Amino acid sequence: MEPSIEQIREDALAELDAAADPETVNALSIRYLGRKGRVTLFLRNISSLPPEERPAAGKKANQVKKALEQAFADAVEAMAAAPSVEDRIDVSLPGRNPRPGHVHPITQITNRICEIFLRLGFDVAEGPEVEKDWYNFEALNFPKDHPARDMQDTFFVSEDIVLRTHTSPIQVRIMEKQPPPVRVVAPGKVFRCDSDLTHTPMFHQVEGLLVDDRITFGDLKGVLTTFVHEMFDEKTSLRFRPSFFPFTEPSAEVDILCVICRGEGCRVCSQTGWLEVLGAGMVHPAVFENVGYDTERISGFAFGMGVERIAMLKYGIDDIRRFFDNDIRFLGQF
Ligand SMILES: [Zn+2]
Repeated sequence: MEPSIEQIREDALAELDAAADPETVNALSIRYLGRKGRVTLFLRNISSLPPEERPAAGKKANQVKKALEQAFADAVEAMAAAPSVEDRIDVSLPGRNPRPGHVHPITQITNRICEIFLRLGFDVAEGPEVEKDWYNFEALNFPKDHPARDMQDTFFVSEDIVLRTHTSPIQVRIMEKQPPPVRVVAPGKVFRCDSDLTHTPMFHQVEGLLVDDRITFGDLKGVLTTFVHEMFDEKTSLRFRPSFFPFTEPSAEVDILCVICRGEGCRVCSQTGWLEVLGAGMVHPAVFENVGYDTERISGFAFGMGVERIAMLKYGIDDIRRFFDNDIRFLGQF
């Protein structure tokens, strides 16, 4: 059956709708209204219809022909009137440069810390952020239900899987794999249930471990003093205060002379003249036993520091949350 004039009209308008330039519209016009166009042929075929149908069909077909002529002409006119790219865009305006990105201050400080320890002969190691309870707690001498776990309350994925609260699990994983000597620092993200001006639920740590024969607390002090002098400056003195961690014995908190007031006392150091920067100590024999090391023959020390804490002191930043607000005006300063 021949297509109806209505069908031809619909086809023509659909094609016109898709046409993007005057050339296409002209070609369409020829395909529908030209000498062998669909509308022309339809008109020609009217003579073969029964006589009583001819007048109505002819009238209808002529209406469609007129309407299409008008539609094609309008479309060409509209296209000619549309503004060109040059009219819509001021090509004489200076371009907008994309801002070059740079390394986040936390990554910069992490890299700097690792660099200092690499020069002291340490390797850098990484490990999983979602960690087994064994590596995060038990192997480090935090028995189940021990109150020491309260200091590192975290997010549980399941009963035996946690988001790691420190990067110390990496130390255990390394000691399991290799015999002493071990010299390694472990940077990475850690997680705890804390959130205030100086704590975020996610933060970064670098922890270190040195195991060999005849390692003493003196070695620990020497390594950390060198680190602090490199990170801050030669005049920054250190203070070791007795403390408690399940995985070290003896344990110490390490303070540095306040970088703001140089010991005079100020708001940043709560008038004490000292700032706490890291925790450290001699590795507890129970940790060595858990990885099968001979506690009679070897000894070692471990330390850990919060990267945000070091960055805040180094740059004089008062709110830890600024590191994670992603405000380019803040981050662009480093
Ligand atoms: Zn101070």
